[in-house]
Amino acid sequence: MNCSNISFIVNTCLKLDPGLRQKILGNWFRDHKSENRCQFRYLAVNPRYFHSASIVSQTHKDGITVLPSPQEVTHILRKNEFNKDFTTGSVKAYDSNQLASNTPIEDTRSEAQCLLMGVYDGHGGPACAQVISKRLLNYIAAALLPNDVLKKYVNEPSRECLIETYNDRVELIEDLKVVYEKSFDKHLKQLSLETSDKKDVGASLEQAILQLDEDLSKEVLEPFLRDGQLNQKTLSVAMSGAVTCVTHIDGPHLHVANVGDCNAVLGTMTEDNQWFAKKITKEHNSENLDELKRIWNEHPESERQTVIRRDRLLGELAPLRSMGDYRYKWSKQILSDVAVPLLGKKAIPANYHTPPYLSAKPDIYYHRLTPKDKFLIVASDGLWDMITPLQSVKLVGEHMKGKVFFNPLKLPRKNIQLGDINELLLHRKESLKSKPKDRNAATHLIRHAIGGTEYGVDHARLAHLLSLSPDVSRMFRDDMTVTVVYFDSEFLRQYPA
Ligand code: MG
Repeated sequence: MNCSNISFIVNTCLKLDPGLRQKILGNWFRDHKSENRCQFRYLAVNPRYFHSASIVSQTHKDGITVLPSPQEVTHILRKNEFNKDFTTGSVKAYDSNQLASNTPIEDTRSEAQCLLMGVYDGHGGPACAQVISKRLLNYIAAALLPNDVLKKYVNEPSRECLIETYNDRVELIEDLKVVYEKSFDKHLKQLSLETSDKKDVGASLEQAILQLDEDLSKEVLEPFLRDGQLNQKTLSVAMSGAVTCVTHIDGPHLHVANVGDCNAVLGTMTEDNQWFAKKITKEHNSENLDELKRIWNEHPESERQTVIRRDRLLGELAPLRSMGDYRYKWSKQILSDVAVPLLGKKAIPANYHTPPYLSAKPDIYYHRLTPKDKFLIVASDGLWDMITPLQSVKLVGEHMKGKVFFNPLKLPRKNIQLGDINELLLHRKESLKSKPKDRNAATHLIRHAIGGTEYGVDHARLAHLLSLSPDVSRMFRDDMTVTVVYFDSEFLRQYPA
């Protein structure tokens, strides 16, 4: 990093409030600490759909910097929006969006019928997160299928996809597709041999996550051990990693499986009509004492000082559980055989004595939805670094209220008097002041997370942070992925107890 970059960061930091400044400097420090993370990046998928959300501000000859206009900012913020409405069930609709800071973005997301939704935050490159977003929901669907249906499905000569996915933007490259189909076939056959037909959702989520994680390793090791062939693409997926938060909603039953530091937060309306944020998940990071104790207990006393260092696993990895990241799971011998020849000695972390140090085992949470539960926000830490769960719930709550003004005025009854129509229009005109800028609640959250101040969104701040060049942007904010799911209160009210 050169001096002008540093002075630019310091100058920009000075313009921000102390809280954000500390966060930014914290991020900068964290980022520098992660310099020795896996540098081996081989894109496993076609990244053509992802672009940096940043546009670099224009500097004129006279030295004046021109920031993006409000329209340009809105264009950047809305580029990856997605929305879907449902006509039956407990889920009314969902809004989703993501904003890159890394180039390419390391966060991914996937959604499918039922409703299954995943947010994945990658590190060490985007490969693992992209592959998981493409595969995990299928593994979950397979784990949930009753045995007789599964057996029929396995024996079908030309199978259709197990589940209908929405907003699927990742396209795997052809040779990886073949590898993954083989693994999935093998997994389906294994599942169809199971005798128990009882499909517990939480157990199925866990089984699917662990099985996919295991397959990421097998896809590297099996061909290598069989005939010495090393597939660099599957290796790059296994060496990069991703934290994962997957939710399954069926009627009033909400299950969440969490690995790492994404979070799911429920927006609930209390008896006295106040918003309450119920944090469903607990992050697996060094702020979670139970997690620290678990890791210390899994390794000998002699490693107490090294297994968690500088708030990171082996001084390197911030999340304490994740998918992929076989740099922290394989034995030293395997790493020497498959990773060192390509990556050099740094492929083996320092103080690597008693692997595995990392697990993809998810924590499973269950919540029975009530009519008071209005929405669920699932997001990567890029959002939670900037706003609290309660702030985000209040923002979505306000957004819900104002969102009705995006729809044309509907008269409440036929034969309404002209005077009443006039009153309705006057009320609407007054209320339109609270109409949010963005129809999509995920965009609304991202806009406020980046540009929010006590007095509302500050365009200059938003424009500034969005116009940083990709190499600088990561020091100020992380990739953000946000999905907001709205529940149908009437459906939940009428659902039998
Ligand atoms: Mg992140």
